[in-house]
Amino acid sequence: MPHVGVLGLQGAISEHIKQLESIGCTAAVIKTPSELSSIDGLIIPGGESTAIKKLMDIYGFTDAIQSFSKPIFGTCAGMVLLAREAPGNPDLPLGLIDLVVQRNASGRQRSSFETSLAIKGLDEPFNAIFIRAPYCLHASEEVEILSAYDGHIVAAKQRGILVSSFHPELTGDPRFLRLFIQMVKEA
Ligand code: GLN
Repeated sequence: MPHVGVLGLQGAISEHIKQLESIGCTAAVIKTPSELSSIDGLIIPGGESTAIKKLMDIYGFTDAIQSFSKPIFGTCAGMVLLAREAPGNPDLPLGLIDLVVQRNASGRQRSSFETSLAIKGLDEPFNAIFIRAPYCLHASEEVEILSAYDGHIVAAKQRGILVSSFHPELTGDPRFLRLFIQMVKEA
């Protein structure tokens, strides 16, 4: 099984580590850019995208992640950071997946909710947990849409980049993570 890093600056770091270990991967919290060379894939967790990006700039991660040649999976805030564009937040996106992503767009009535989602590549629906989630406003034709909710893309992939607006690491269900591990194995 691959050795996967979780960007260890801010957010739901330990939850991803636990889920990775539960399926037999070895996992590492990545705190410096030099540690990127030791992993087969990277997860950018959910949290506060503005805080994560500030720390990425301070610790030299921004360029290092942009030139990281292995698969990357971004959940929630991580999806905002991997996007091409985030309207109103021009400093956040790294431009690694061709999506336009609006921060904090989900659930006007409820900022957090769970729902059962059909996801391309999974046989049975997935219980998705959304917490102040981003929604995708636009995707280029190069992007493969894996799931949509309420008329918005909530999971997608392009080349080695996988994103979800929801938090697969907060469920006991590792099937979405396995989609990423498959990408890592194929890379
Ligand atoms: N609202 C957060 C942001 O865009 C994301 C929330 C989350 O990761 N659960 O920074």
